Amino acid sequence: METPKLYALPDLPFDYKALEPVISEHQLTIHHQKHHQAYVNAANALIQKIAASRQDGTDIDIKAIAKDLSFQVGGHVLHTKFWKNLKPAAAGKSEPEGDLKEAIESQFGTLDRLKKEFLLAATSCEGSGWAVLTMCKKTGGLFVIQVEKHNINLVPGFPILLVLDVWEHAYYLDYANDRAKYANAVWDLINWSEVGKRFVKSKKLQNTCAS
Ligand code: MN
Repeated sequence: METPKLYALPDLPFDYKALEPVISEHQLTIHHQKHHQAYVNAANALIQKIAASRQDGTDIDIKAIAKDLSFQVGGHVLHTKFWKNLKPAAAGKSEPEGDLKEAIESQFGTLDRLKKEFLLAATSCEGSGWAVLTMCKKTGGLFVIQVEKHNINLVPGFPILLVLDVWEHAYYLDYANDRAKYANAVWDLINWSEVGKRFVKSKKLQNTCAS
């Protein structure tokens, strides 16, 4: 059997100080090097455990492992998308352009309306989770959804355009319990060029699936 394919912690697309003053170097370093790394390590440990059991022909607790695997891999994938849809504070605010701008305006009315819905999704998420902007490949409809933990409420096959981490580990050192203040501040760090690229890529998949 082939050696299992493992994950690696990706480098951030900017340095640890780049998101200051919105997210401190200390907060970002711990978030990336401790929390994100922990999801990568846990996903890899599970993948190796599954591979070893196949090799030995021994049984494993599939129910528990399958659930844990979706959580750990989900954590890795969502964090990877999160880092990439942020940009250094020094770059200034950006705005959606082109097809993405058009889709937001035709579906939400204004960018401010999307912001309002997205931040409400972020602030009202119960416990640990994410605010997510996603797109239906069938209709091209944009949806703001809440993902609980890293794997609950995601719609299968819907591409993720934008994510905001609202786990306490993402903001507590800088904002204590003020999640709304954190979410509002991070909105200004969104890399709309990256979100636009994801949108264009997702649009190309439109009507290629049955649902
Ligand atoms: Mn996180």
